[in-house]
Amino acid sequence: MTISQDLFDRAQASIPGGVNSPVRAFNGVGGTPRFITKAEGAFTYDADNNKYIDYVGSWGPMILGHNHSAIKQAVLEAVENGLSYGAPTETEILMAEKVKALVPSIEKVRMVSSGTEATMSAIRLARGFTGKDKILKFEGCYHGHADSLLVKAGSGALTMGVPNSPGIPEDFAKHTLTVSFNKLDEVKEIFAKFGEDIACIIVEPVAGNMNCIPPVAGFLEGLRAICDEYKSVLIFDEVMTGFRVAKGGAQAYYNITPDLTCLGKVIGGGMPVGAFGGKTEIMDYIAPVGPVYQAGTLSGNPIAMAAGLKALELLDIDGLHDELEAKSKRICEGFKAAAEKAGIPLTTNYAGGMYGFFFTSEETVTTYQQATECDLERFKKFFHLMLDEGVYLAPSAFEAGFVSTAHGDAEIDATIAAAERAFAKL
Ligand code: PMP
Repeated sequence: MTISQDLFDRAQASIPGGVNSPVRAFNGVGGTPRFITKAEGAFTYDADNNKYIDYVGSWGPMILGHNHSAIKQAVLEAVENGLSYGAPTETEILMAEKVKALVPSIEKVRMVSSGTEATMSAIRLARGFTGKDKILKFEGCYHGHADSLLVKAGSGALTMGVPNSPGIPEDFAKHTLTVSFNKLDEVKEIFAKFGEDIACIIVEPVAGNMNCIPPVAGFLEGLRAICDEYKSVLIFDEVMTGFRVAKGGAQAYYNITPDLTCLGKVIGGGMPVGAFGGKTEIMDYIAPVGPVYQAGTLSGNPIAMAAGLKALELLDIDGLHDELEAKSKRICEGFKAAAEKAGIPLTTNYAGGMYGFFFTSEETVTTYQQATECDLERFKKFFHLMLDEGVYLAPSAFEAGFVSTAHGDAEIDATIAAAERAFAKL
């Protein structure tokens, strides 16, 4: 019995499923989740003293590697002045100014404490601003677990096979329309039917909750044009892609300007933070200046702001994201070559510091349907072989992988060498 097994047994007696967020329970891959005791740079360590090259990166935020010394220092300095005030601080202004400088489509920004809060609030704002009720999302895209967004969702909802959760009244869900990601024709069709009632389109500009699926050429441009035509709000959910795909997020990478942007994870540098922002005209519709209510006791928390601001400052280096993308590319090409050697069909995708690999013989994977038709059994085996090799991949075939600046050549070479051995055993 390992210490992780022992802890998992104990956890299950007091915490539903032993975890505070479903995918952590290894439901998608089976086996015992590793209980982590510390993380440093590219590595995590578990309770049994195993060391892993980590590609989860706290599900995205650790772009600079775990426990970055400057972020840690910023937190320690902030802690000296108290943990929370429930009153405004200058650090919040600095944070807002930094976000605006990095993401020019954001003219005003409101801090929240999670990605779920960011998307939930952005949707409410879009509905309030347009006076329309319906929203359009894409099958397999995950935008947190707010009621209207947990419809045909990705991530844990997809991993666990519960794309529609009980507890969401039909009356709520009926306002959420869903079509296929990367299928502009379907978007046009549904707008032709319901366009006048659609408050917004919300999209992950690079889908990262059904593995990693970048937009096909023209898709995001098409969404922009449709939103302009019907006066719907275009919301980019950049909780995962923000500051990861490029300094200015996927909107900079693909050069498309959304009306609202949701951010999360990354802007807390590892602390619980999210944000939504965009055009002044829309953002000024929110309380206390506007009629749409939104609030949060811990929003803009001084410790979280100190960590996040430092992370954004450190990320604001020219060439850093090219370096991240080069790492994603090396992993994808390395995995592909290793799989080929073992006679296993594999397809890969990447954008900036996020990547994905699919056990499929399809040449490219661009749709939700293709992602769900991959060989999940093979993924499970591969995941565990890699874990045994000391490589911690996302424990689900429906999550993206994340690299950080702390992943050096040595770690990436070791990962590809481990993959070669793992593919050979499949
Ligand atoms: N949007 C996207 C694109 C996400 O990937 C996630 C979380 N993985 C969320 C929203 C929800 O964020 P949180 O888990 O912080 O509520």
